[in-house]
Order: sequence, then structure tokens, then C-alpha cells
Amino acid sequence: MTVTRFAPSPTGYLHIGGLRTSLYSYLWARKNGGVFRLRIEDTDLERNSQDALKAIIEAFDWVGLSYDGEVEYQSKRTEIYKEYINKLLDSGKAYKCYMSKEELDTLRASQEAVKQTPRYDGTWRPEDGKTLPEIPAGVEPVIRIKAPKDGTIEFLDGVKGAMKFESSFVDDFVIARSNGMPTYNFVVTIDDALMEMTDVIRGDDHLSNTPKQIVIYEALGFKIPKFYHVPMINNPEGKKLSKRDGAMDVMDYKRLGYLPEALLNFLVRLGWSNGDQEIFSMEEMLKLFDPSNINKSASAYNAEKLLWLNGEYIKKTSNERLEKELKFFDLDLSNVEKKDDLLNLAKQRANTLVELKKLIEDILNIPNSYDEAGVKKFVKEDTKEILEKYINLLKENKNSLNSVEKIENFTKPFIEEQGLKFPQLFQPIRIAITGGTQAPSVYDIIFILGFDEVFSRISKALE
Ligand code: GLU
Repeated sequence: MTVTRFAPSPTGYLHIGGLRTSLYSYLWARKNGGVFRLRIEDTDLERNSQDALKAIIEAFDWVGLSYDGEVEYQSKRTEIYKEYINKLLDSGKAYKCYMSKEELDTLRASQEAVKQTPRYDGTWRPEDGKTLPEIPAGVEPVIRIKAPKDGTIEFLDGVKGAMKFESSFVDDFVIARSNGMPTYNFVVTIDDALMEMTDVIRGDDHLSNTPKQIVIYEALGFKIPKFYHVPMINNPEGKKLSKRDGAMDVMDYKRLGYLPEALLNFLVRLGWSNGDQEIFSMEEMLKLFDPSNINKSASAYNAEKLLWLNGEYIKKTSNERLEKELKFFDLDLSNVEKKDDLLNLAKQRANTLVELKKLIEDILNIPNSYDEAGVKKFVKEDTKEILEKYINLLKENKNSLNSVEKIENFTKPFIEEQGLKFPQLFQPIRIAITGGTQAPSVYDIIFILGFDEVFSRISKALE
């Protein structure tokens, strides 16, 4: 059975890189009828915060990636980790190192002075026939793992292929600090093993942790999961993604009016593809996603594509759902008579919910000012007369305002008879009704607002 996890550290908000790897892990588990777990890596007490934890869980709920079982918190599992530290000590696969911080610093400085990579010198590493130094008084030891001294540590990464690290790269690294607290790589490994992870999908910023984790798996005789290290998301210039490029809190996307399914679709494509298909429903993602097809190179964040995708999703989202989403932006449509027509109209033109709200409000709200440039360009000497004539025409056709087609059918001949060009009538009407020149089709607006409202707004504009 496939078991995957998302293992955020609650040191900040959930960013899109984290959401992307969790989406990949989620898809892979769900596709295989497996298990997807959420584990909070909250052992760094100085950098953790409750607010960050809340924000991560909130963002996770928003995008709707469901996890199985209880959320695990590493901070509650210290006893378990200690048990495994002791097992390693008992079996001689780990040892106590009494080197003080000062000694370690001196050692490091002497190695750096001759341009050597700093390494632990093995002073306290037990070996057959070796006498260890006398235990100094008053020093609390750290625990180091007995890592292989020579050779290489190798694994087959599901994304990057064959990986090979010199054992010296790993060193006898510390698995528990002098205060007894286990270190990061140790707890991650114990958890992944005990939670029976089969596939670990994570950012390639963790690649250098993997050989260390493999040493721990091997020392404890645990089965090693398959690793997939996913390349980073860069900005379009190939540099590290900054906040300005889109390295935002996932919840910022909500605030900017993105639909979670559009964001997930965007993220699944950012680093994975299926031919040139761009739009994937969740069902399709589940059917087609395979972590072996994750791109080997970094992907480039493309804000325009996200915007376009979101527009596509808005177009096909039900009005009922959109009405609900708009409440988050303080727009309540429950009392709007023709809200379906209004939404059908506006959703064709909006790329975000914020734009959708603006389009709707532009139609619903009586304008309190008129676009100056528009007035200058489109309001001429004869405009007043044209509008008055058109209002009369609307009055005569009051019974035909219940369909866009009918409105069009009496308006077009009027434009011809009067010898007008379309913008001569439509732009002043748009300005009078909505304040601007960008609003949707005039026929649609008249249909949605009805005679009384249109009459009152045009009359007000003509004052
Ligand atoms: N807690 C780590 C992070 O937030 C992830 C560890 C892992 O996936 O192995 O980056």
C-alpha cells in the first residue's frame, strides 16, 4: 500500500512550494488507494509558532486536500525518539561524544585553515582495540551515529535518478543533542519509518538530508522508502522565487480571488506534465499523475498562466458556488433578483473573484462619479438628445426588456435610423449606468437592471 505524507514545519505560512509537494504526495496516495498523512514537524521550539500552525492547517483545509488519521505532532513523540536513540546506543551503532563545543570549534578551525571540509575526527567513536579518552567531568555528551567511514551511500531517486554521496559527506553526525533532544534528521527518519511511508516526495532542498536519513534507516534495520526530490519553483528569470513573484502564503491566493482548484491545477503543472494538457480536473490529476514523470529541472512560476487558469475555472464554476465565494469578499447577492444572469454575464470576463466582484458591483451600484476620459471621448453635443430618444424607445418597448435578444432587436434598427455608430450610443449609456466604459454588453446590463433602474441612472447622468 502506498503511504505518503506532508510534513510541514510550523515556522511560517504554507507557501506554494510546500503545497505543491503535498499535492503530489496526496495524488500519489489517493491514486493508489493508499494513505496520506499530515505530520507537524514542530521540534524546533524556538522557530515554531501556534499562529504558523493554524495558518498551515487553515490553508490546507482551504485547498481541500484531505488527510487520513490523526495529525501527528513530533513535539509529542519525544519518548519514542529516545527509545530509538537508546536502541542504537545499546547495539553499538551510536555512541556518546564528550567533545566540548570549544574543542569542536578548535578542530573545525584547524581543518578550515587547511581548506578541509570540517569533519568530526572520531575521537569518541568506539572501534575494536581502541581506548577511548577518559570521560570529562561536567560535560553532557551528544549522541553520534556510527556512520560508514568509507564507500558511498547510494539510492535511486524517483525524480533525479541514481544518487551517490561519499560516506565522508555524512560523517558521524549528531542524532541527539547534549540536552537529550533528538535532531531533525533523526526524528524525520523515525517517523517516516514508524508511519510506514513508502514514498517520500519533498523539495530537493532536502536532498542532502537523505544520505543521513539512509544511515539511520540502515542502522535500525528499517525499510527505506522511495524518495522523490522535487526541483524548486523559480521565477521566470530562473532565480529563487521571491514574494513579489508569487512565493506567497497560500492564503494570499484566496485573498486575491483565486479558486483552490485553479491553484492546484496550476501547481500540478508546475513541475509535471501530461503532453500539452493544461486543465486537469481532480479526477484527471488522480488518473494521470505519476511522480516518476516529475520534471528533472526547476520550473518557472508563470503568474499569467495562473490568472488564465483561474478565469477558466471561474467560467465553469456554478453560480451557487460563486455566490458563496463572493461572500468572502463581502458581496452578498442573496437579494439580487437576476443574480444568475448577472453571474453568467460577469463570470465570462473575470479572471479572479476580486474582478468578478468588481464587474458585478459596477453593474449593481449606482455610479457616484463618471470616468473623465470616457466622458471626454464619448459625450458630444448630440449625446443628450440621443440618450433621451433611446429612453423613449425603452419606454415604448418596456414589455420586451425581458430578453437580451428582444432588446437587441429594437435597438439595432434605432441605431441605423438615427445614422449612429454603435459607440455613440453604447459608450454614453455605459458611462451613465456604470460610471465607466468597460462594462459588459449594454443589452445585458439593460436586461439585468430593468427599465426603472436604467431610466433613473440615465436621467441622473443627464442632469
Ligand atoms: N519539515 C520539512 C519542511 O517543512 C519537510 C521534511 C520532509 O519532507 O522530509 O521542509
